[in-house]
Parts: sequence; structure tokens; C-alpha cells
Amino acid sequence: MSGTHIRMNRATREWVIYAPSRRIRPQDFQSKQTEVAPEANQMASCPFCKPAGEFKETILLEIPNSDGGWQTRVVANKFPALSPELKPKRSLTGIYLELPGYGHHEVVIENPDHLQNPAKMSIEEVSAIIETYRQRYLELITVRDNLFIIIFRNHGKRAGASLQHPHSQIIATPIVPRHYRWREDEAQRYFDEWGRCAYCDTMEFEIEDRQRVVGENEQFLAFIPYAAEVPFEIWIMPKEHRADFGTITPTEVVAFARLLREVLATLYTRLQNPDYNYAIMSAARYKIGEPQLHWYCQIHPRLTTPAGFEMGSGININPSLPEADAAFFNGLDEVDL
Ligand SMILES: [Zn+2]
Ligand SMILES: [Zn+2]
Repeated sequence: MSGTHIRMNRATREWVIYAPSRRIRPQDFQSKQTEVAPEANQMASCPFCKPAGEFKETILLEIPNSDGGWQTRVVANKFPALSPELKPKRSLTGIYLELPGYGHHEVVIENPDHLQNPAKMSIEEVSAIIETYRQRYLELITVRDNLFIIIFRNHGKRAGASLQHPHSQIIATPIVPRHYRWREDEAQRYFDEWGRCAYCDTMEFEIEDRQRVVGENEQFLAFIPYAAEVPFEIWIMPKEHRADFGTITPTEVVAFARLLREVLATLYTRLQNPDYNYAIMSAARYKIGEPQLHWYCQIHPRLTTPAGFEMGSGININPSLPEADAAFFNGLDEVDL
């Protein structure tokens, strides 16, 4: 198969998406010594800043602002990793399993202002982004072949952002990633043993313990996980048990936006605008009502570079303790642990 397609690694059951339509040739990977970022010109050539007549993208959703303009927009990705035109039919080549690269790949333009940043936006502006996520998620989850939906944001070059204009992305796939299945299986095991949700129990402990809590409101908790993989990894989780992001209520949209903005603003000031990724981890389709799964937003600042040990072992070496990170995040520079 030469177009966009998905292959399974027979040894690990991990899936890999191949998207050669992104027009990168093998020789493009030769390292270049001098790469100058065309930051200054980005605004003039930005496809999301074009006025109405010149805006070329297909608009899938638009949330208006109070001035008659738009607040957020969702467009189809110009260089999609997956395409809704294909059928996700499995086939075998020898022992190898593959399927065409069916799926949806959308871009959420988070704000009309090219130089905005969620860390600096108003609560209303961040709420509009979350509401946009909610509406697209609910639309995509109803499509039969979409088994898994991931909403994510790349901020900065080290996090893989190629466009400066504030945006996030939504990808729906016809497969469930192996690490997700693993997470579901572990949650199931915990539930079978204790009859409770592992994530609800984690939150209960963190709220009591306080050492790793970095933010809280009535509906959401933000904390650095006990076994954080990287420095300042942060999870934001609904306090009420919910497996599915799509069940978020209008009040929770605002509460989540408020805490997300607060966490991103603190990262911005305490760590001087670090590169980061976040992703909303929600149940795979057909698991959305399960009592053992619980959605959350996982934020990974890109402060360290994974090396050979991480690649070979799958184990992260985190040079910073979660408790010390939380104390620093909360404004305490010197702590005895
Ligand atoms: Zn722009
Ligand atoms: Zn729960």
C-alpha cells in the first residue's frame, strides 16, 4: 500500500500510521546544520489569518464571538495523517496486517489573534476552545468507524508545533492504540479487585495528601502524578466520575477552561513559556459508559529529551521529583522533602 495507511507491528501489536501524502521524501531527513525559523514572516503567510474572501480552508465548525466575528474555527487538516474518504478494511500481506488510513484529522483554530496563547487568554476564550472540542468530539464519536478520538495541542517547536497561530488538533482513528488498551485493562483489573475506579481513588488520595496538587476548583483537580514520567507532567481531572469527555456539562466546560488556563499560565510564568503537549485522554468508543474509566487532560512539558535508555527500556528517567515540582509550581522555591 503506498497511500496513507496503518500497519500493525506483529511483535508488539502497536499500530503505526504512514502518511506519505505529507510530501516528505526520505532525503528530507538528512540533518540540516542551519535552519532559520521564519517567525517574522509567519503572520503574513498564515493560512488562519486570511480575511474572509481569501480563507481557503473548509470550515467544519465556527463559534461566533460577540462582535459578529468568529471566536474559534475548526477546519480539515491540509496535510491529514488520515482521511475520511478511505474504508478501514483490514488486509494481510504475508504475516503483516494493514488497513487504509481511514480517519478524521481536524485543526481547531483557537483564536482569531495570531499571537494569542491559552496561557494569556480570557476564561471566555479558553471556554470557547473547550466547547469547540466538545462539539467536534460529539460529532466524530457518532461516526461508526471512529473508535478512538484524541484531542491534543502542540505548543512550541520541541512539542512539534509547525504553525505559530494558536491551534489544537483532533484525530479520530479506526483502531484503539495499544497503550490505551493497556490503560483500560489495568483500570478493569483495579475495578475487579476493589470495585472502584482507580482514578477516583487516586484523586481522593491526592486531595487528602496535598503534596502534588497544583490547582483545584469545585469540579476539577490538577495534580502532578505520583509517578510523573517527565518534569512538571500535570493531569487535570473531573472530580465526578466520568469515563467520556463528551459528557462534560456547560458548567464543567467553564470550570475545566478556568483550571487549564490557570495551569498553563503558571507554567508560562514559572518555567518561561515552556514547549508542551497536552492531550485529552477519554475512553475509546464502546467503553464510554464503563465504571472504571475516567477522562483527564495530560500535560507534558518538553523539558528533557528521551534518550537511548528510554527508547530501549520504555522506562523514563525523570530528573525531578513530582513533590518538588509541585512545590515550585505553587510558588515555594525552597522545600525540604
Ligand atoms: Zn495566524
Ligand atoms: Zn473515576
